[in-house]
Amino acid sequence: MQETRKEICVVGAGRMGSALVRAFLKRGYPTSVWNRTAAKSEPLVALGARTSGSLETAIAPCDIIVVNVIDYAAADELLRSPSIEAALKSKLIVQLTSGSPQQARDSGAWAGRHGIGYLDGAIMATPNFIGEPEGTVLYSGPHANFDQNKELFLALGGNALHVGEDFGHASALDVALLTQMWGTLFGTLQAIAVSVAEGIDLKTYDKYRPTFRPTVEGAVDDLLARARDGRYRGDENTLASLAAHHGAFQHLLDVTRDRGLNPALPHALDGLFKAAIAKGHLHDDFAALVPLMR
Ligand code: NAD
Repeated sequence: MQETRKEICVVGAGRMGSALVRAFLKRGYPTSVWNRTAAKSEPLVALGARTSGSLETAIAPCDIIVVNVIDYAAADELLRSPSIEAALKSKLIVQLTSGSPQQARDSGAWAGRHGIGYLDGAIMATPNFIGEPEGTVLYSGPHANFDQNKELFLALGGNALHVGEDFGHASALDVALLTQMWGTLFGTLQAIAVSVAEGIDLKTYDKYRPTFRPTVEGAVDDLLARARDGRYRGDENTLASLAAHHGAFQHLLDVTRDRGLNPALPHALDGLFKAAIAKGHLHDDFAALVPLMR
């Protein structure tokens, strides 16, 4: 297959960059690696990767440059110089460094100005999932850049997904999905604090957790559907009004005060409830909070 002959250069051999190199090598792609400190590339060279003394010479023979360094500032420092920009001309950069949607758009615009093909990606996985069927990487940018290299992206994980032509959309989804994760993780921290303070051991808490899961997932599904449709008023399908939520929420404030728990999260959430209620949404759906988050 013609595609497997494409030469790849991975810039960055940290935990994630090394996993990317190993995954490409495993699928038989000729792969070069370049890292600021050469020693990090050595284990990958032992596996069959090529390396080079300078970034410019590492890039030269390659068609696709996969960038995975710590942040966009580091990537810009490496890539935005006249000699590197010239070396990258007509090649494809796949920027897999984590960043904000605006950083991705700026980077895409920079590539466009220099005649460099560009895709911006978000890795929704830890290094151990790279190359595995469950590994998920989101890509945004011109559809053709993705379609022409889909096999190569599948080498990094079974879920290689193109999420839109806007360069920022992979990063935006990354931020949104991570936010959902943090909501759950911080909620779990608070639940641990309440359980332990009230003498419920965590094994017991964990035993009851699955019984509530369908209710929570149903509420999230309902919130998303209402946000999509702009259905914020309380109606006959409302699962629980803001008044019902805020009433139950008082008990978290009570336990927090009574047991001297860290109030940071309950107070932040209380502020959101109170802002919605002050705007007259007490009897509206929980979804009435949607516009307040913008
Ligand atoms: P790491 O600390 O292991 O590696 C960082 C890499 O960046 C190294 O290769 C280092 O040499 C390079 N680097 C740092 N500063 C540099 C500079 N100024 N100039 C040139 N190179 C520089 O980090 P990692 O876990 O491999 O993460 C790399 C990227 O992948 C980050 O953007 C991270 O957010 C993203 N990511 C990581 C994971 C994960 O689970 N590790 C998951 C998803 C996304």
